[in-house]
Amino acid sequence: MKLRYSEAFYSVQGEGQFVGVPSVFLRTFGCNFRCMNFGVDTKKDRWEQHAEGQRYNAEVKALLDDGIIEKTKTFEDLPIVHTGCDTYASIYPEFKDFNKLATIDEVVEHLLSLTPQGKWTQDDGQDIHLILTGGEPLLAWQRLYVELFEHPRMADLKNVTFETNTTQHLHDDFYNYLNNHETIKLTFSCSPKLSVSGESWDDAIKPDVAREYSLVDGSDMYFKFVVADQEDFNEVERAVEAYRNAGVQCPVYLMPLGGRSEEYSLNVKDVAEACMARGWRFSPRLHISLFGNAWGT
Ligand code: SF4
Repeated sequence: MKLRYSEAFYSVQGEGQFVGVPSVFLRTFGCNFRCMNFGVDTKKDRWEQHAEGQRYNAEVKALLDDGIIEKTKTFEDLPIVHTGCDTYASIYPEFKDFNKLATIDEVVEHLLSLTPQGKWTQDDGQDIHLILTGGEPLLAWQRLYVELFEHPRMADLKNVTFETNTTQHLHDDFYNYLNNHETIKLTFSCSPKLSVSGESWDDAIKPDVAREYSLVDGSDMYFKFVVADQEDFNEVERAVEAYRNAGVQCPVYLMPLGGRSEEYSLNVKDVAEACMARGWRFSPRLHISLFGNAWGT
């Protein structure tokens, strides 16, 4: 089995608990969600997007209608969108061929080639983190991660984060492997989707899945919610309570919605104040401040 991934790149972690940590990102292909409503301004527009079972938000649909697939040669040449899922080319099957299909040997060589010294733990002992992101990295690719982590050239890898929408159960084999693997510090960066995404509560808020992640021996986890307006703070409270009722207690980060750096600066302060009032943590989008909204950051 080969891994399909849209990009791998070296950057600093821009969000959540490890902000600023030099990390290699591996963006796997495929997601069970579409999150069509992110950044769509009005409730009317949001509703229209969902009418007649639309599969794409207006921006992605316009790209497809305009022949973007035929016109574009590489993943990196695909335009950035400002609404819906910001990694649209990693989730829609139409964009599958812009993604790479590689054996684990090839993936490992690619990942290591991105690190400053061709290894995870540098000569001075500082380590580079590996972030598995997507799409949704805990879909069927779970089957390949044991091979990835057990690869001889990954032996000095110390920190792995899964950036997950927290809807996918761990396969038994993978769960057992993680429970018995001591050299990697594993973190679940859990980003459940609120209604602002366009996904439904029942599909998106899965306390039993979060509980399963929390039970992996020696692992760490935190929640990271994307919020757009005051109503979303109430939803975060409701979600956190649902997770707590399932026995999951961990730090909660809030991150303002926004793919465009100018949009981002509009609501940063509101989100920070809401965090201070409730004891939540504020997460910036450091990579956007540093590099703008672009692939490979
Ligand atoms: S869960 Fe994440 S990757 Fe999946 S559609 Fe939503 S924003 Fe995109």
